[in-house]
Amino acid sequence: MVKTNGITEVVKRRPPNPLHQSVLVLNQSYEPIHVCSARRAIVLVFRGRAQVVESLDISIHSVSRAFPVPSVVRLDFYVRIPPKPLSLTKRNVLKRDGFQCQYCSTRSAPMTVDHVLPKTQGGRDTWENMVCACLTCNNRKGNRTPEQAGIALARRPRLPNHVTFIRHFIGVSDQKWRPYLFMD
Ligand SMILES: [Zn+2]
Repeated sequence: MVKTNGITEVVKRRPPNPLHQSVLVLNQSYEPIHVCSARRAIVLVFRGRAQVVESLDISIHSVSRAFPVPSVVRLDFYVRIPPKPLSLTKRNVLKRDGFQCQYCSTRSAPMTVDHVLPKTQGGRDTWENMVCACLTCNNRKGNRTPEQAGIALARRPRLPNHVTFIRHFIGVSDQKWRPYLFMD
């Protein structure tokens, strides 16, 4: 039980500033590339640089009009943005894979990092050779390749792209983002 005083109650009750809401930014090609604040997204829209694709159920008000807070915007031009540089750590490999075993697809077991091509067979520490694996699958696979162990990878491990980065590292702030992040 946390003791509250007047100040903390005021902070808790204040609704989140709609201008601080996260907005998913799509490239002109509809490829998700970035997450920015609603404030930034609204500026892009008013400058004619982007269009609102999805809105939240909340509005910001000026003196004369109300403007729905965007949830997803699409740029009117194509930008090339390199993938976020992410350090290759065990934690980041687990995050990339959404803490889901890449062999049996469970999410509810203790997770480990497995080298697809085992280190004993020359496997390296790379994004393409490391996957999230539950303890059971990792033990069953041992120092063997998936083929040798008779198990299959759900998907080929890759360097995290923008979609993976937004889904698993930034997080999905609004359900309306899901189709654009290929989650439905
Ligand atoms: Zn597993």
